[in-house]
Amino acid sequence: MRILVVEDELKMAKLLKRGLEEEKHSVTLASTGAEALELSDSYAFDLVVLDIMLPGINGFEVVRRLRQSDNRVPVLMLTARDGVQDVVKGLDFGADDYLTKPFAFDVLLARIRALVRRGPIEHLPEIRIADLVLDTATHQVRRGSRPVHLTKTEYLLLEFLMRNASRVLSRNTIIEAVWGFDSSIESNTLDAFVRLLRNKLDDGNKVKLIHTIRGFGYVLQEEQDS
Ligand code: CA
Repeated sequence: MRILVVEDELKMAKLLKRGLEEEKHSVTLASTGAEALELSDSYAFDLVVLDIMLPGINGFEVVRRLRQSDNRVPVLMLTARDGVQDVVKGLDFGADDYLTKPFAFDVLLARIRALVRRGPIEHLPEIRIADLVLDTATHQVRRGSRPVHLTKTEYLLLEFLMRNASRVLSRNTIIEAVWGFDSSIESNTLDAFVRLLRNKLDDGNKVKLIHTIRGFGYVLQEEQDS
């Protein structure tokens, strides 16, 4: 999943980013409310982890403005230990759940799984294209009955292609989504990862799922008989 982490304390932000990336999520960091709103305007995140105490536009205002602009992305608030009023206010403004600092990382991961599970229809934990199934909660992938073992980057790439199945995606769009908009990944690196995915998913299968759009990018879809 693509997760936006909004946290002004650098140490905490880095900790969250590293932990979530170890769980195969793609993480973008924002350190102010303004930055968070700008990013959510330009990129589709699957989840926002939102610290309430932020300089300038605080967390309440961020979630309020998100909902005002009809952005329904699940929001998990991070609040202070004695912030009962904060919790009520945050939920009233449209946050989906909260976690009190300090928290155990396992609890954060469990809350994230729960939020995504109950999210809108496009956030269903299982994505299925033909006989390819990806479980976003357990990160397990299988083609038919055969389990497919992927590295973190291969997984993120496949998840993005599957969420956008049948849509032709440019190399830049894919790179931004998988490696982050500030990454310096070259398109031949992407091509190399697509080759790896193909080896694992399509080799030996009559129906190919990953297709190259020459000079542009890729599309994941069930090959049409012609
Ligand atoms: Ca803070």
